[in-house]
Amino acid sequence: MTKVKRTSKVMFDRIALIGIGLIGSSISHACRRAGIAGEIVGSARTPATVETAVKLDLISEGYVTAAEAVEDADLVILCTPVGLCGPIAKEISRNLKPGAILTDVGSVKAAIVRDVAPHVPEGVHFVPGHPIAGTEQSGPEAGFAELFDGRWCILTPEPHTDGKVVEKLTAFWEALGSKVEIMTPEHHDLVLAITSHVPHLIAYNIVNTAAHLERVADREVIKFSAGGFRDFTRIAASDPTMWRDVFLNNKEAVLDMLGRFTEDLTALQRAIRFGDGDMLFRTFSEARTIRRGIIQAGQDTAAPDFGRPHTSEPGLAADKKKS
Ligand code: NAP
Repeated sequence: MTKVKRTSKVMFDRIALIGIGLIGSSISHACRRAGIAGEIVGSARTPATVETAVKLDLISEGYVTAAEAVEDADLVILCTPVGLCGPIAKEISRNLKPGAILTDVGSVKAAIVRDVAPHVPEGVHFVPGHPIAGTEQSGPEAGFAELFDGRWCILTPEPHTDGKVVEKLTAFWEALGSKVEIMTPEHHDLVLAITSHVPHLIAYNIVNTAAHLERVADREVIKFSAGGFRDFTRIAASDPTMWRDVFLNNKEAVLDMLGRFTEDLTALQRAIRFGDGDMLFRTFSEARTIRRGIIQAGQDTAAPDFGRPHTSEPGLAADKKKS
């Protein structure tokens, strides 16, 4: 199990969260657990989310606009869908405190640098970031303090960024439970295209392909979903706005990886058509090794059926019992 550094030392007197959904609310929970924030304030798009965030004590003060929320903050974290980071950066530009650190959690990095960096005023330190941790849930009620425990957070500072600022943000994410890695925005986008973006696209596509089949009834797709389909539906339940923005903003890397994916898929298709069992066996064995590597790296457990709880009664999953 990953050890989480617990510190009661306040690292930032005032943290502003712009966007308080799954990631924003989890940051708040994890900051409170670590005792590293003096005060956490924030804003969202709708008054309902701000009200919920205050009620859940995720923020002590909620603001109607992002510009008001960032006033006097030492750390500003953009936790909105990727496509909004540029416009929000423009809106808050004049209200950012000199010396403040501005970061984000967006799943794409080169487009964030392109859209946000031009609005960062002199004296404010911009360090883009991306915690590789999430669930298919969204909204302020979805967050929890353990989300980042043992997960990687990637920071993509510019070469000219003050090293001390990068160190401070690294220490912040470590206090939240993460391990930190530094890379360029372009490399981040390439790695995430294959590890996250293309898998989500495949999940969205397979779920819709099944839904549109004429020769298999919808109820059969649902009834027999435990055969593998169900696991794709979990990924495909992710927020459509967030994922639309990811694909619009990581176009080149995703298209590059999709090209490779399509070639490999065609090779498998041929192997099935021509009964090439050796090729299928070799390919599946290779994939199994990758799964073992993920478990060994502590990024998942070896529990059967993705760790779903089972009752002693065969065939009756605990989640079925609940309903
Ligand atoms: P989410 O749960 O849908 O929350 C998004 C938040 O952004 C909501 O609070 C929303 O407010 C707010 N927002 C939207 N437009 C805004 C605006 N113009 N001004 C201020 N706030 C605004 O999304 P999430 O899952 O936390 O994702 C947030 C970011 O984290 C995305 O960039 C995503 O790429 C990244 N990320 C997500 C995951 C994941 O698994 N979900 C993992 C890593 C990184 P309302 O509620 O009022 O609409």
